[in-house]
Amino acid sequence: SDGPADMAPEVWEKVKNHPCYSEEAHHYFARMHVAVAPACNIQCNYCNRKYDCSNESRPGVVSEKLTPDQAIRKIMAVAKEIPQLSVIGIAGPGDSLAAGGKNTFKTFEMLAKKAPDLKLCLSTNGLALPDHVDTIANYNIDHVTITINMVDPEVGQHIYPWIFHDHRRWTGLDAAKILHERQMLGLEMLTSRGILVKVNSVMIPGINDEHLLEVNKAVKSRGAFLHNIMPLISDPAHGTHFGLTGQRGPTAQELKVVQDQCEGGAKLMRHCRQCRADAVGLLGEDRGSEFTIDRIEAMG
Ligand code: SF4
Ligand code: SF4
Repeated sequence: SDGPADMAPEVWEKVKNHPCYSEEAHHYFARMHVAVAPACNIQCNYCNRKYDCSNESRPGVVSEKLTPDQAIRKIMAVAKEIPQLSVIGIAGPGDSLAAGGKNTFKTFEMLAKKAPDLKLCLSTNGLALPDHVDTIANYNIDHVTITINMVDPEVGQHIYPWIFHDHRRWTGLDAAKILHERQMLGLEMLTSRGILVKVNSVMIPGINDEHLLEVNKAVKSRGAFLHNIMPLISDPAHGTHFGLTGQRGPTAQELKVVQDQCEGGAKLMRHCRQCRADAVGLLGEDRGSEFTIDRIEAMG
């Protein structure tokens, strides 16, 4: 389990109040996601844009999209009700850094003034990350999650049909190569500034399952402090793009085999719940439905 014994002291200092990173903290501290980032700059084969981004979230759910102003009102209302609230994350419903990360940074800017004690985190597919590392450091965002499903464009081309980068759409190997290079660069830039980076990988049987050990080594060597291997959650409404129809998720046993192989590499995280992009509360709970923007506005 995560704890001071098996973490570097400077890492433990940063994660001890973070419910997602410390097994202990997840009983005492609450987190909240605000879904202010609707756009995405890539297409994952397993994504259906009607639902939340799988960078961080449980697929198949639709989160309440908020403007930055609404997000602030919601956060302040939740902070009043849930004093254990310690972390605010932006994890979708699209990519937090697509569209220049405008809503994401606007929300963090307002939050830094209104509630400077809250810790901030975001999750991203990494494509736009290198452009925003300075801004991320300036807002004191001390945790970033990057979803990295491959470190080989040959594998990547089966996961990503296209990306939108540098004012145009890229496809095939070119797309996967650019995404891969941007993810590695972003990861290195963050870790060299002392920002904690967790890497999420979605395990897709037959596509990247045998490749995840290589991903684990690559992200560890670039300083990621946790690697979270998540199962593809297959859903009839998912994988309807580009021939991945019917793609199954891994069995619990298949997932465990890959997680065990990666043991000893980048530290693995096994208690991530793949929360919704608008999750609210302690880690085992989601009180999001108590705090919809309609209810908050009705409260005045
Ligand atoms: Fe969907 Fe992938 Fe974009 Fe997330 S990063 S919104 S899963 S296409
Ligand atoms: Fe934590 Fe949930 Fe995010 Fe996983 S999805 S890192 S458990 S808030």
